[in-house]
Amino acid sequence: MSVMTVHPHHAGPFRDIAGQLLFLGTGTSVGVPVVGCGCGTCTSGDPRNRRTRTSVALGLPGGTLLVDTTPDLRSQLLRERIGSVQAILYTHDHVDHVYGLDDIRPICYRAGGPVPVYCEERVELRIRRAFDYAFEPVPVPGGGVPKIAFERISTAPFDLLGVRVIPLRLRHGTFDVLGFRFGDLAYCTDTNLIPDETWPLLAGVDTLVLDCLRPDRHPTHLSLDEALSVAARVGARRTLFVHMCHDLEHTTASARLPAGVEMAYDGLVVPLAGVWGTPVADPRHPRER
Ligand SMILES: [Zn+2]
Ligand SMILES: [Zn+2]
Ligand SMILES: [Zn+2]
Repeated sequence: MSVMTVHPHHAGPFRDIAGQLLFLGTGTSVGVPVVGCGCGTCTSGDPRNRRTRTSVALGLPGGTLLVDTTPDLRSQLLRERIGSVQAILYTHDHVDHVYGLDDIRPICYRAGGPVPVYCEERVELRIRRAFDYAFEPVPVPGGGVPKIAFERISTAPFDLLGVRVIPLRLRHGTFDVLGFRFGDLAYCTDTNLIPDETWPLLAGVDTLVLDCLRPDRHPTHLSLDEALSVAARVGARRTLFVHMCHDLEHTTASARLPAGVEMAYDGLVVPLAGVWGTPVADPRHPRER
């Protein structure tokens, strides 16, 4: 794959990502390059070794969905020329997935109101603490705060921007987080274990986005061998690794991956065409009720 695909040229100020999955960031919590590190990955000239914090945007029928708001959000949106976001969905409340939320202010301003934010209670509590200034009973003069409309989610499927979303319970060290299934696509970042209850929900996935931190084991993330084992069991046509640290150099690590497994990189686009065509059967919550 050509490095030229990392930052394709587009005409016009904003970009339409309808029908696409766009990798905004693919790096671990400190990003790559790591501040102060002189290793081969961190000093590499290959743009695929420059990883901002892990997040994706999806061009759904009802608009653009942002999954997590990383501390790199502003630079990610500018880099990819994303000018509007219709909803935000959170995997969990870690700093590298939440603390860029203030960067949505221009989006709220242009939309003329709050952005719907779909998350579990733990994430909402984190947001209310970290961004307490956005929840003052008397609005701050000037209105320079992110405007948020919380929508509580659980493991029950829900409809969002024209698609059915199936939350996937994932283990992330000592606590639980969410991955999400959108049609034939499953997004599973920040996990070191797929619980038994989640495996049936991954059946038939065509494209799997999966946590893969590094070759060595880690208490809260999948190692390379663990991620490969999960990928083999899911059996997706295409598996894309995210949340990688500098121990995985793009070209070297990619060369060792089996067919159908790739390291994602910032700016990578995957078409979603056809993904919504297949209704997803959820054994816990049948679609027909
Ligand atoms: Zn993370
Ligand atoms: Zn390094
Ligand atoms: Zn995390």
